[in-house]
Amino acid sequence: MSGVRVYNKRLLDLGLTLPGFVERSKVIASLPSLGLLTLAAHTPANWEVIYKELDIYSEADIQEIIDEEPDLIALSSLTARINEAYKLCDLFRKKGITIALGGLHTTAMPQEAENHADIVIQGEGELIWEALLSGFENSNLKPHYSSLANSDFSFHLKHCKVPRYDLLDISNYNRLTIQTTRGCPLHCSFCAASRIISKYKKKPIHLIEKELNKIHEIWDRPFIELADDNTFIDKKWSKELLVLFSQYKMKWFTETDLSIAYDDELLELLAKSNCAQVLIGFETTNKASLNGMDRANWKYKQFEQYQEAIDKIQSYGISVNGCFILGFDTDTEETFAATEQFIVNSNLSEVQITLLTAFPGTDLYEQLKKENRLLKDNYWDKCTLFDVNFIPKNFTVNQLETQFEQLMQKVYSNELVAERKKKFKRTLLNKRKRNTHGTL
Ligand code: SF4
Repeated sequence: MSGVRVYNKRLLDLGLTLPGFVERSKVIASLPSLGLLTLAAHTPANWEVIYKELDIYSEADIQEIIDEEPDLIALSSLTARINEAYKLCDLFRKKGITIALGGLHTTAMPQEAENHADIVIQGEGELIWEALLSGFENSNLKPHYSSLANSDFSFHLKHCKVPRYDLLDISNYNRLTIQTTRGCPLHCSFCAASRIISKYKKKPIHLIEKELNKIHEIWDRPFIELADDNTFIDKKWSKELLVLFSQYKMKWFTETDLSIAYDDELLELLAKSNCAQVLIGFETTNKASLNGMDRANWKYKQFEQYQEAIDKIQSYGISVNGCFILGFDTDTEETFAATEQFIVNSNLSEVQITLLTAFPGTDLYEQLKKENRLLKDNYWDKCTLFDVNFIPKNFTVNQLETQFEQLMQKVYSNELVAERKKKFKRTLLNKRKRNTHGTL
């Protein structure tokens, strides 16, 4: 179950008129579930696999699943849709279908998931899934499998199998995902994806090549989105990855941090590999909010380099989508004005602003829970990145929402969106001119 539904009605209405914001939301909602396609690859051949996406669904869709009479349903969902997923689990279980729930939210909240599933999966699914299916066949199913506390299930990426892209009707997608790394060593306080499922690890390059070959068998010139948290942590490995990517006719997108700006060789390879855009979490334009954000305080130390790093990366013709979060305890009204100013002054080709969100399993969640600042116990439907789900420090909930809405209106105004496009076109033109001079 993918996609999110923004809760705040005012913002939702606003969002519908803000093309930059809507485009990215649509892209996220339309990505296939790489986790489930991966489990499908780890399913023995004596099982028949059906893959379904339930972003938008009708009663007939659910009936169709029931009519298939599946032995087992494996389901995963983002936090924002988990309550809906639970309802579906309850319904399927009433029909006698065994339900296995996994993914990020389930890993963070296993006890909650136990109320709605026969089997709860925590952590990496590959080896667990194989054990679980064997348990099903031998009537020896366990209610709980975890790779977090059980080394038997901890997975080395050298054993990865190519996800079952063949289960997809490719005409329904404008992007496919592959994963080249898992986790991120930076440990930002608000980030769940970086460490809940797995610590940081890289996939061997020859296996990534196999996945790309498979995708190219079904799609001539694909657009690939890397399902990574922070791709270019290991620069030596990253360069090998980029050399591989440059051999394919594809466009691609990933998320990284600004350390790539300090490595010219990597930027050169990135430019040659048809990278369409990198998304970078600058997180905030309020230096105080960066202090202590990650364990080594690395982001705090990069603050003075922000503008220069953006210009450097984009000078290679690579578009940077800069991400900023609003609502930290050290943020004030001035932070909103400073964020707008930073975005206007920068040459960023795209921007993404979101509200600070306390996802379960994060340090931020633990802190706010201890301080009794979570708005309610089950606020999962508000984990959309565009809704406030805790009591802010320097604002009321309404003030924070209103300030955010106003900033959205400015940042995604037609004028500023057009200005960003124009600036990036100029950057590309300058790059072309430099290249022409270089070859004369
Ligand atoms: S750098 Fe990004 S992926 Fe890594 S921990 Fe921070 S927010 Fe998460």
